[in-house]
Amino acid sequence: MSLYEILDERFRPCVNKNARLDHLYTGCRWAEGPAYFPAGRYLVWSDIPNDRMLRYDEATESVGVFRSPAGYTNGHTVDRLGRLVSCEHGNRRVTRTEPDGSISVLADSFDGKPLNSPNDVVVRSDGSVWFSDPAYGIDSDYEGHRSPQEQDECFLFRIDPAGGLSVAAGGFARPNGLAFSLDERRLYVSDTGGPDHIRVFDVADDLSLSGGEVFAECTAGVFDGFRLDTEGRIWTSAADGVHVYDPDGTLLGKVLVPEVVANVCFGGPKRNRLYICGTTSLYAILLPVNGAKTF
Ligand code: MG
Repeated sequence: MSLYEILDERFRPCVNKNARLDHLYTGCRWAEGPAYFPAGRYLVWSDIPNDRMLRYDEATESVGVFRSPAGYTNGHTVDRLGRLVSCEHGNRRVTRTEPDGSISVLADSFDGKPLNSPNDVVVRSDGSVWFSDPAYGIDSDYEGHRSPQEQDECFLFRIDPAGGLSVAAGGFARPNGLAFSLDERRLYVSDTGGPDHIRVFDVADDLSLSGGEVFAECTAGVFDGFRLDTEGRIWTSAADGVHVYDPDGTLLGKVLVPEVVANVCFGGPKRNRLYICGTTSLYAILLPVNGAKTF
């Protein structure tokens, strides 16, 4: 079976037909939230139902436990100062791991009530932290702790650089993955709770959002998490692998993966290695494109 499905000629320069899909690790129940640390050349990701975070060391190609228990972490990102920012289903909070290893809470409640279960997170260059708050982590004990939802909605939240928390957008079923465009004037947010699509918002100078029209409808499974390359293309999770969208909304093609994919991130010293969290496994593939330095 071919590794790629080319749906648009513009996808050909995005893949190397000689590259292979590296199967780096298996043994997860639900691999999610990859985040790459260039300074250390390692990748951290979540194995949510097993309540642990794992680390792949690029230099030694070894995998070990990074943190366990881990508060049922889901999505992660690395901020501009190289710090790990994490969504924790179990503790219903967003945290940052500081250079000394201590953990700071960035957000754990809104309007006096606990968050649902933060799912995925991105940091803008101004230091604002944006995260989705669907209820997957409180629906059952499988990937968190079963609890009633106290927030009125599953919101998209923004933490301002000064620390204030506000609703960035509502009206989602289950907001999930998110990423900024290269100029950070647009924010892509997936919704996975019935509508299986990515919406795109315009970001104003005061960080308020407008628009929110549907950018793409998923053709296989759901868009859980995604990242952009340096041309603004979106590399997103889907049921049959990684789907790649042009900024104009065209599905260009797919990297086919033998397990359902939840999330991806670019890594390697040249940011040309796509790490793929696929259910039980961590995969990677070298690409002729490079990941954007948006977080
Ligand atoms: Mg997610």
